[in-house]
Amino acid sequence: MLLTITSTHPPATDLGYLLHKNPARSQSFELPVGMAHVFYPEASDERCTAALLLEIDPVGLVRSEGRTTLREYVNDRPYAASSFLSVAISRVFGTALGGKSKDRPELAGRPLQLQARISVLPCHDGEDFLRRLFEPLGYSVGAERHPLDEEFPEWGESPYFTVELSGEVRLRDLLSHLYVLVPVLDDDKHYWVGEDEVDKLLRQGGEWLAGHPEREIIADRYLKHQRRLSDEALSRLMEEVDPEAESAESLDREEEAVEERITLGEQRLGAVVAALKDGEARRVLDLGCGEGKLLRALLQERDFEEIVGVDVSVRSLKRARERLRFDRLPPMQQSRLKLFQGSLIYRDRRLSGYDAAAVVEVIEHFDPPRLAAFERVLFGSARPRTVVLTTPNAEYNANFETLPAGEFRHRDHRFEWSRAEFRAWSEGVAERSGYRVRFLPVGTEDAVVGPPTQMAIFVRESARDQGGDG
Ligand code: SAH
Repeated sequence: MLLTITSTHPPATDLGYLLHKNPARSQSFELPVGMAHVFYPEASDERCTAALLLEIDPVGLVRSEGRTTLREYVNDRPYAASSFLSVAISRVFGTALGGKSKDRPELAGRPLQLQARISVLPCHDGEDFLRRLFEPLGYSVGAERHPLDEEFPEWGESPYFTVELSGEVRLRDLLSHLYVLVPVLDDDKHYWVGEDEVDKLLRQGGEWLAGHPEREIIADRYLKHQRRLSDEALSRLMEEVDPEAESAESLDREEEAVEERITLGEQRLGAVVAALKDGEARRVLDLGCGEGKLLRALLQERDFEEIVGVDVSVRSLKRARERLRFDRLPPMQQSRLKLFQGSLIYRDRRLSGYDAAAVVEVIEHFDPPRLAAFERVLFGSARPRTVVLTTPNAEYNANFETLPAGEFRHRDHRFEWSRAEFRAWSEGVAERSGYRVRFLPVGTEDAVVGPPTQMAIFVRESARDQGGDG
């Protein structure tokens, strides 16, 4: 079983610092069921590849399992990627998996151009399932199926693939994706799992699993089809990412109270609806729709034929349904509105093909390193013609009497930007993605610190470039 990881981020040999394994030396590690060897088939400034070779000892394996039928000796475990690969990743690349690097801490936190190749990956459910697991995480997936027997092609195909994943990801994410998803593909029901597997799954998948469209099947298989465990994992997972889980309503009320005197929320909605109409949008996305205030405003405008609310929080979506009285809307209205759960930092085909997207008071909830992923998802992949995006203007905070100096407006905000910071980010996005961007103030503008809310309107440059999921 061979896994290789290639970096083309110059100087590529920094991969050695990230993996904490010197490219000049090969090293071996003992595992509970065999050996792992690490070596570098290539190491130049342009391209550096680390290889992890697993030698599973089938006899030792049987002994450790305490079983003795022939099936236990003659199976694919020694050469196919399986949960042993996860064991090896955490044993050999544990520090990198934890996102740490002594010598290149800054690089460990950054997405890099990386490629992983797994020589024999069992995937009984075929290539489509493989793609459904890795593509939403932003990888392009290359898969080559092995015939059952090279000499007898008429025997048909085997369930084994050579798989290549490439993408711009942090090394820790690549490792955690493999750690969780290789055993999921393998789906070997053989091995016993205990309670601590739920912790392992949440530790490795916590950051991305909640937003993954296949999270249910991933949790189910990772936990070997033990319904009780996967239910527990999913509910803990949703709580962990769900900023609303504890007392979201009170947090929202705090933010509303801070902004109250100028009914900023309403002015913001009005400005966003106007910008969407101005862009002649018919089919619109409300990304990070929360409890659906904008959705309600959009439903009242006949211009919008299809309105889609997306949020990572199941609770918010549920509340949006209630507040919009979705189940009691007349059929015509109901058919204009869709709500679905999804994360804006994972590429999602369901977001393609819309005229416009509103992203209202959402980006400041992302950890700053996630902004690049969000940019790829929305401006690189979904590519609506118009994007209307708002975020607080940090300079204005001094004007909110009830807000202590230096604090954000909402406790879940990860940052709040000055006008210059927002402008720099937006212009960078526009430049990289082929959009034009302009800025409008929202709320009563202060002569010195500007408006309370800042809004950017992005318009795709080429009408021909309809985007897609590429
Ligand atoms: N747009 C709404 C809600 C803003 S609060 C309004 O203006 O009222 C921010 C919202 O973004 C929350 O509902 C939160 O659940 C959602 N959110 C945070 N991170 C997200 C992510 N990664 N993907 C999708 N939605 C996210």
